Amino acid sequence: MRFDERGTVVRRTYAEEALTDTGALVVSARLLPYRRFAQAAFILLILLMPVLNILRYDSASRELILFGQVWSLGLKQGFYADHTVSGAGYIAVHFFLRAILPWVLVLSVFPLLGFLTGRLFCGWLCPEGALFEWADYLTLKLLGRRSLFRRKANDPGEMKGNPVFYGTLAVLSIVLIPLCGGIALTGYFVAPETIWNQLIHGSFTPGVRAGIIGVSIYMLTGSVFVRHTFCKFVCAAGLMQTLFGWVSPVSLRLRMGFERIGECTDCRACEKACFMNVLPRKNKRDISCVNCGACIDACNKELGGRGLFHYSAGEYSRGAPAEKCGRPAVKTLYGG
Ligand code: SF4
Ligand code: SF4
Repeated sequence: MRFDERGTVVRRTYAEEALTDTGALVVSARLLPYRRFAQAAFILLILLMPVLNILRYDSASRELILFGQVWSLGLKQGFYADHTVSGAGYIAVHFFLRAILPWVLVLSVFPLLGFLTGRLFCGWLCPEGALFEWADYLTLKLLGRRSLFRRKANDPGEMKGNPVFYGTLAVLSIVLIPLCGGIALTGYFVAPETIWNQLIHGSFTPGVRAGIIGVSIYMLTGSVFVRHTFCKFVCAAGLMQTLFGWVSPVSLRLRMGFERIGECTDCRACEKACFMNVLPRKNKRDISCVNCGACIDACNKELGGRGLFHYSAGEYSRGAPAEKCGRPAVKTLYGG
């Protein structure tokens, strides 16, 4: 506690509260509403990008549209007829600047994100991750477990809801989400107005039909059967973030403050909140952790806002390893 010269308590600023001496980011606000807002905003962006001509490839004109402009190599007419050294240099420079460099920049986004923020993108922005979480939620409400196939040790307790309500919601989701996703994402390759015209007249070209059906089937099978297994083992963007986040000395990671391990009530709310099946109390790097903060929220709730988890940049844990704490609090985790 700090006092001013008159002896009055000086409240610490939010930044002072949030950053501990070790630079760890302590979060006492509930993260879930912010995460849901970020996911919704990113889904909206993905759906609207072709409509607003922010990014799409027009397969009819074979042009890439970027921020309303046609993205071309910028080569002047008749460039191929110029066989001089300066002509070749001109082509090489344009090719590098307008084709290779943009691709390198695009491809470096996920490694860079991983290096700085670990798998934060997966937990906070990825539309597929949000879809899988929605599928988990509906399965929990209908079957009382996250997976369609079997109950897992970290499934939250009884969460079943009204079967008629959640059954209807599930059927609507199974039909409408893949269909709307298929229509919207096909807009990345076929002009959205063309798709709308075909929808209104109920007559589709083979390309549009294939796009809508293909994306719909992909979304349906992914969200019903595969879910987070895809995030862990298949998604290239996720794997790049994992790899660079793993080796990075500065990337954002989830950390448990072992100096307060005695306050743990062994409620396992942190484990039950984790849809990636991580055991956050192990305090070890886990390639599956998407930095979603659900365990932070769960522990904050259990311990009245002073939970044991926080974000940390870089060094994972300076505290004692859980298995060496010998506290009853980690009994469940280590079978003691
Ligand atoms: S360990 Fe925590 S932050 Fe990581 S994925 Fe699980 S709930 Fe999210
Ligand atoms: S770390 Fe927090 S949420 Fe997890 S078991 Fe202990 S008190 Fe419960």
